[in-house]
Amino acid sequence: MAAHPVHVNFPGRLVFVGFGSIGQGVLPLILRHIGGLDPSRITIVTADETGRAQAEAAGVTFVRQALTRENFRHVLEPVLGRGDFLLNLSVDVSSLALIRFAWERGALYLDTCLEPWAGGYTDPALPPARRTNYALREEALAVRREHPDAPTAVLTHGANPGLVSHLVKQALLNIAADLGKAVAEPANREQWAALAHELGVKVVHVAERDMQAPSVPKRNDEFVNTWSVDGFISEGCQPAELGWGSHERNFPRDGRRFDFGDGSAIFLMQPGAATRVRTWAPMSGPFHGFLITHGEAISIADYYTVKDGDRVAYRPTVHYSYHPSDSAVASVHEFAGRNWQVQSAKRILLDEIISGGVDELGVLLAGHAKNAYWYGSQLSIDEARALAPHNSATSLQVCVSVLAGVIWTIENPARGMVEPDEMDFRRCLDICRPYLGPVVGAYTDWNPLTDRGRLFPEDLDETDPWQFKNVRVL
Ligand code: NAD
Repeated sequence: MAAHPVHVNFPGRLVFVGFGSIGQGVLPLILRHIGGLDPSRITIVTADETGRAQAEAAGVTFVRQALTRENFRHVLEPVLGRGDFLLNLSVDVSSLALIRFAWERGALYLDTCLEPWAGGYTDPALPPARRTNYALREEALAVRREHPDAPTAVLTHGANPGLVSHLVKQALLNIAADLGKAVAEPANREQWAALAHELGVKVVHVAERDMQAPSVPKRNDEFVNTWSVDGFISEGCQPAELGWGSHERNFPRDGRRFDFGDGSAIFLMQPGAATRVRTWAPMSGPFHGFLITHGEAISIADYYTVKDGDRVAYRPTVHYSYHPSDSAVASVHEFAGRNWQVQSAKRILLDEIISGGVDELGVLLAGHAKNAYWYGSQLSIDEARALAPHNSATSLQVCVSVLAGVIWTIENPARGMVEPDEMDFRRCLDICRPYLGPVVGAYTDWNPLTDRGRLFPEDLDETDPWQFKNVRVL
């Protein structure tokens, strides 16, 4: 086999919208693994100069032009037509506007996040329920119902959301095998949900601990992150959201249900960046993460729902539990202390990350007969650098998932709007695995009641460790 296998050929044109940390990390992977795509057929449309030198060195056209509601059609029309591909890796550009446009043009589409136009995540004129990923997803699903026969448009296929949906499926099969259950691989949504139900999975945490560190420490009045600072600030300021499981008995005092859509999630009346939860990963052990809202919290909860008529018979609680790099934790702390007024300087870490750090990103499936099982990637900065240019451990986990999603889309061009849970998880994992470092499965005895109440009495639900009440840090 070639060192860099070509997974698919693509005869069309490819347009990147946005060329920040993810775009720059994805381009070399696309040129490596997608055949027949001459760089002269790739155009980048982006709002700033970042990445111009890289693009031009690769022979790719670089257009600096911020897209707006008013100009995006005019800018994209000349470079996007039937059979082409629109790869949206921007912030502040409406995913739904681009999807509708791609469909009008007969083009394929993929993004890593459901973005509104600039300001949509934090517009105080909108009620909190409308500033959620749940609301954005409901809007997307309504568009999907209107266009069942459209070209494929993949929503939210980065690492998380994205890759983690595939990790959940592999983790379910691993747990079933370890429990000695002879399980045929599920063939559809109902069968996957039935498997999670049968195994008794109560919660799914996307449990991430980023241990990468910079050579120059975070300065005063600076927001430092290993991927988009703007992206992290936007999602961190949205209400905390979680898929709300059928085993939950303690509704949060600041929790709210949605009065529209399928009701698979709830939100809290505070930002995700102010909401902390307990979780576990193999290298880190137990840790506190931020419950930042993410698309996968809702789509996975919805996908694995089992209904008995109109009644929800089973649904796992699903949420992100994110410990970003220590510099980013300090940045969030400073940002919160200013009552969410952003720092004057922003820094995305890449070349200055020191050797040795690992981004441990996986899914923790818990509440079943073997307590809890984490399955995911333990990619180090050193391995990421050896594997691909223009990448950190964080970006590479995202970028290879984008690559896998683009390949799957080219191979499945007429599927309409698709969420990661609806894709071929084996195909995607096979493409990603060589870039993920060690992919590890590990069981733990830890649960959210472990070592609790030692220093002070706590209000706990001792009857079930995996109640969200026990998971949340109050
Ligand atoms: P970044 O901040 O490094 O780059 C953002 C890019 O968007 C820049 O090139 C900027 O010029 C461009 N942009 C901003 N406004 C624009 C406009 N109006 N028109 C055109 N381009 C515009 O961000 P990033 O780290 O590369 O992340 C990109 C996207 O990927 C974000 O939406 C982020 O939330 C998402 N993301 C998803 C995952 C995942 O795992 N699913 C992980 C990381 C990032």
